[in-house]
Amino acid sequence: MTLAVLASRALCGLNALAVRVETHLGPGLPSFNIVGLADTEVRESRERVRAALINSGFEFPPGRITVNLSPADLPKESGRFDLPMAVGLLLASGQLAEAAASDGPAPWADLVLAGELSLTGALVPVAAPLAIALGVAGDLPGGTLILPAGSAEHAAWVPGLRVLSARTLADVAAHLAGARGLPDAVPRPWPAGEPVPCLSDVRGQPAARRALEIAAAGAHSLLMVGPPGAGKSMLAQRLPGLLPPLSRMQALETAAVAGLAGLADAPAAAPPFRAPHHCASAAALVGGGSRPRPGEISLAHNGVLFLDELPEFSRASLEALREPLEAGRVVISRSLARAVFPARFQLVAAMNPCPCGWRGHPARSCACTPDQAARYASRVSGPLLDRIDLHIALPPTDLAALDAAPGETSDAVRARVAACRLRQMARQGVPNARLEGPALERHCPLEGAARDLLLQAMRRLGGSARAMHRALRVARTIADLEEAERLSARHVAQAVQYRRPGD
Ligand SMILES: [Zn+2]
Repeated sequence: MTLAVLASRALCGLNALAVRVETHLGPGLPSFNIVGLADTEVRESRERVRAALINSGFEFPPGRITVNLSPADLPKESGRFDLPMAVGLLLASGQLAEAAASDGPAPWADLVLAGELSLTGALVPVAAPLAIALGVAGDLPGGTLILPAGSAEHAAWVPGLRVLSARTLADVAAHLAGARGLPDAVPRPWPAGEPVPCLSDVRGQPAARRALEIAAAGAHSLLMVGPPGAGKSMLAQRLPGLLPPLSRMQALETAAVAGLAGLADAPAAAPPFRAPHHCASAAALVGGGSRPRPGEISLAHNGVLFLDELPEFSRASLEALREPLEAGRVVISRSLARAVFPARFQLVAAMNPCPCGWRGHPARSCACTPDQAARYASRVSGPLLDRIDLHIALPPTDLAALDAAPGETSDAVRARVAACRLRQMARQGVPNARLEGPALERHCPLEGAARDLLLQAMRRLGGSARAMHRALRVARTIADLEEAERLSARHVAQAVQYRRPGD
């Protein structure tokens, strides 16, 4: 056989797309060409593959070698194609005898190979093994993935596929020839994860605690406005502890995104909490780069994104949040391809009431002119605020409350939140925050008095349709926390308190 076809994966956002590695050995002057939108790292494979073959005791075949990475329009990066290319050369040159007997398409239809070779023939761990494993499990269920030791143990966390761990090219060749099997990768135990701070640490602030519970229960985004020291960050940090733990797949997906960003990719049961500084660029926030990398919103996927000092973020950064907030994913377009990263995060934002922070404070005086305060508030655009369901004003910390007995623990609140989420999922398949259009109307049946109250409130406040939809979603969650089917006037009255100033 002079043609070998093997399967590998190229990463495009979080998607690990199938790549056919076709290796052809033909007559002619010795040459080694790689075609199929290969970037520099892939082209350098030629030197690594040549040295690795020779140093593993194989012959580097003379003749004209062509490797085609297909589909050709998909950018290929990284050295992970080294291994399938080297194995392809062994097959095409007849050095892998048993496999060479089968002609035509891939001799191992459900086998995927990825690994960078060192010149010695040893395999070097690959980046983002979790993303690769999720891709293989998704479209090749029951398939087998061969990865370098060190990467394979991460990939083995993903159910639905077999992951084999290889140390050298020679080991892979021996396995494929049926001589000596590769060991199954043993997944490391899931790490315990960082402890999430408990809500009982927050003294006083009953209204804010309640708003946080509603936010957790309905997956609503939340904006807190209050003076410095009112406990905005402290409250936000406690939201992940109120949310239901992630499912296994959610945890793996979130960890895979972290792996793509070059961070530790150990899955954790607790939802992620990301709090980028307001200096963060739009690219750092939503993702970007010539080789697209996930941003903070994707690292917060299935968890919480906390933006403190919201008006201090650049306008470009805040505007870039709008679409992902609705779509739950971010698309980064480049000339060659589009990368899609998941970004289903819950936004918690905080801001001071004015530039100095003391506007409306009973004991401190604000040094800002009304004009300065208005300009400060207007740095956050209306369309972004429109996407935030819950708005609360935090009073300054009441010193007397610091001596009060600790409030409820996160565990107690999380149990109510979990029950409330189950109701929502059983009824409509999504959390209340994602109810839109006809589904919103259908799932928010109003008692007569509630309808009157809602219309009155909207008329009095000059509210828009969007404002009414926000109030309905929040009222739905308040009713769900009480296990009520229909929205009563009381639920609506509470919900309209969380309106955005100006609604
Ligand atoms: Zn001020």
